[in-house]
Amino acid sequence: MRLNIQDRFNKELPADPNKNNTRRQVHEACYSFVQPSKPSKPELIHVSQEMLKELGLTKQDALANAFLEVFSGTKVMENTNPYAMCYGGHQFGHWAGQLGDGRAINLAEVNHKNKYWTLQLKGAGPTPYSRGADGYAVLRSSIREHLCSEAMFHLGVPTTRSLSLMLSGDEVLRDMMYDGNAGYEKGAIVCRVAPSFLRFGNFQIFAARKDFVNLKRITEYTIQHHFPEIKSNGKESYIEFFRKVLDKSLRMVIDWQRVGFVHGVMNTDNMSILGLTIDYGPYGWLEPFDNNWTPNTTDRTNRRYRFGNQPSVVLWNLYQLANALHPIIEDTAALESILHEFQQKFENQFLDMMTNKLGLEKKMEEDSKLIENLFSNFEKAETDYTIFFRLLSNIEKNDTKEVSFTKIQDSFYNPSEMPDELKDDWKDWLQKYLNRINEEIIEDKRRFEKMNKTNPKYVLRNYMAQLAIDAAETNDFSIVEELHNLLKQPYAEQPKFEKWFAKRPEWARTKVGCSMLSCSS
Ligand code: AMP
Ligand code: MG
Repeated sequence: MRLNIQDRFNKELPADPNKNNTRRQVHEACYSFVQPSKPSKPELIHVSQEMLKELGLTKQDALANAFLEVFSGTKVMENTNPYAMCYGGHQFGHWAGQLGDGRAINLAEVNHKNKYWTLQLKGAGPTPYSRGADGYAVLRSSIREHLCSEAMFHLGVPTTRSLSLMLSGDEVLRDMMYDGNAGYEKGAIVCRVAPSFLRFGNFQIFAARKDFVNLKRITEYTIQHHFPEIKSNGKESYIEFFRKVLDKSLRMVIDWQRVGFVHGVMNTDNMSILGLTIDYGPYGWLEPFDNNWTPNTTDRTNRRYRFGNQPSVVLWNLYQLANALHPIIEDTAALESILHEFQQKFENQFLDMMTNKLGLEKKMEEDSKLIENLFSNFEKAETDYTIFFRLLSNIEKNDTKEVSFTKIQDSFYNPSEMPDELKDDWKDWLQKYLNRINEEIIEDKRRFEKMNKTNPKYVLRNYMAQLAIDAAETNDFSIVEELHNLLKQPYAEQPKFEKWFAKRPEWARTKVGCSMLSCSS
């Protein structure tokens, strides 16, 4: 296995001088060197061929023993120095102090075709940042991370990637629903990959400790390696950097709203500085549209991270990043004016995204109202978010509202019990939509094609991941494989996979792991 290793983070930034793997507060350092734990019987479950290729590896490489050893944490590659990063964060709105990579270990950075990738094992044992936990991960959450990060990539949503999924052969004790029913589960290790795993929290930790020397170093490092397009220096470059982080974070959340993804734990330690979706925990996918929905049972009371609140949370998190960068920028007005741009940018991009979903090209005054009315109809009857937009693309300019209604009605969860009044509301909306598409020059066929490039047909519905997990618990990894393949082409018609273009089955409505997930993983 040949990887072109070119480490930067652990060469250019200050290290924790203490090399013991003991839990502690780490000051004036960006990371601590740490060795992965040796799993007792590692077994490869699945590899992403697309990610292999990005790293310059082949199918043969993935079958070799060296691959199993390196990506299970059994062996450390020559000339590499694995490390865990130090970061802090706001959790559910409160500053939580030092957090850090408690169960993630960065192996190395690889340069291939002029792209840098950091390889990171998740679930490879404790680090100085493990606090009260064990540093391991269970199979169910590892399958969810592996499948979803690759699915998001193919959906065109900025995200960290996943190279491989392995069983560790060890058992891990977890209380899945935090209700006193702890049990042993299979341990697993995922190798995540990203240009960088830096988070808002990596900057916040230095600001909180008033270590402005290191705050400046990590900011300059990030600009140099990850924002090379910034040509200014000093404070001016930090301001430009902040604006770019805002733009990237905004783009990410617009994409989440487009595909119906709910992250579940948008703490500032889970916000990538590159605007990548990171840390797949109790995430979920909208099945019936519901702005108030969150899959995360830990957040059930306040619903801080509910679907409809995600854009506001991104902004709140950006305020925390602005606070963290302020000591090296010392220009409140500049930061505030960037933050104030968020609302307008969001409104413009949200409108663009929604009009794309609706297949509208011209900008018209009434579009905002049309979208508002659509959301209000969604709220009156359970409507499958993914299926609705796919079916909507079948509507043609010459259709009547009655015909249009029959075309979309399979997206309703309970069409037979829909009151006539509500049917009329839908037909009214469809009439407005028909009027609107008749204002467009674009032909039905072209609109159909365009809509189906922005509205996915297949997403990783909550119950689908759970079916893959249930089978995997009995050593049957065929559904992991099938879903991984299916989700490589989320926008394409895939007749052999038609069964996955279906509303959530009734059994999944309240099943743990489907609509209800906790942070336990
Ligand atoms: P999360 O909400 O999963 O992003 O995790 C928040 C913090 O808890 C991070 O610092 C994680 O590294 C840490 N953490 C989560 N699970 C574990 C675990 N099993 N062992 C050690 N640290 C963990
Ligand atoms: Mg995290």
